[in-house]
Amino acid sequence: MMIELLHRERRLRGNETLRKMVRETRLSREALIYPVFVKAGKNIAEEIASMPGQYRYSVDKLGLIFDRLLLAGVKRVMFFGLPAEKDEVGSGAFRHDGIIQTALGYAQDHFPEIYRIADLCMCEYTSHGHCGILQGEGPVGPFDVDNDATLDYLARIAVSQADAGAQIIAPSDMMDGRVKAIRSALDAKDYTSLPIMSYAAKYSSSFYGPFREAAGSAPAFGDRKSYQMDYHNKKEGLKEALRDIDEGADIVMVKPALSYLDIIREVSDAVLVPVAAYSVSGEYSMIKAAAKAGFIDEANIVCETAVSIFRAGAEILITYYAMELAKWIDEGRIG
Ligand SMILES: [Zn+2]
Repeated sequence: MMIELLHRERRLRGNETLRKMVRETRLSREALIYPVFVKAGKNIAEEIASMPGQYRYSVDKLGLIFDRLLLAGVKRVMFFGLPAEKDEVGSGAFRHDGIIQTALGYAQDHFPEIYRIADLCMCEYTSHGHCGILQGEGPVGPFDVDNDATLDYLARIAVSQADAGAQIIAPSDMMDGRVKAIRSALDAKDYTSLPIMSYAAKYSSSFYGPFREAAGSAPAFGDRKSYQMDYHNKKEGLKEALRDIDEGADIVMVKPALSYLDIIREVSDAVLVPVAAYSVSGEYSMIKAAAKAGFIDEANIVCETAVSIFRAGAEILITYYAMELAKWIDEGRIG
């Protein structure tokens, strides 16, 4: 029996050509950023046990991953440094011959097509593994990260990364006032055109577990809940983003991505700057493990989750699956 229906939503789902025409969310490889772990030393390309398929590279081996990225058409890289030595104040983060500075310089000289985004934090460089300078008595007594004392260090790191050739500075520490401190330090050195992509709504998340193994950045004691955000909170994420923009952030980031799609949406609706989302190590490793066990189809799940992040309002996606996504966009699977 035929019933009269003015609207039939299925009309636009009848074939693939039509479906692709009416898609509301478009993906581009230009919107993808790939995180790279650079380790002090030579001749290193070691797989990260908790993140199968991801590696730590010494500077001399960075070409291995840069060649693959360029072949896949993924040109934007976020650099994370793993220094040989750590100390109380994370001085490896701002040394002109530090690991991230050396890697940035190498990329600039040998792979100028790679766009260099520098993650800026202290936790990979401090002996205690916290994202700033400690006050208090340390491991056995009460301690906290001294917000205002940390700002000077963050500003100093930013300038050293800029000197080394960073093209975007991405502070991930979550200290109050860091964007302002970094912006003024950069401007004072004439880096007025260097953008800041702030980790604005960065939640204290268990999804970071595999990264901490990858970067050797787990706190030696305590946790990061006094500076990273409580995942019960939404308004606070919006406040962080708006405040970072007020202080001069050019792009704001929400991290992690998948459990925070509502935050991406809220931030995206409220701000007038591009919004990035970081699909973190735990998101990657969960998919890898489930795919390996044969429980899910890896490609389909990665595509669906990536599209959901863009649909939520992100314009930029930082992901360990950047090369695979670029391929799947090319193949017309998504995008
Ligand atoms: Zn940190």
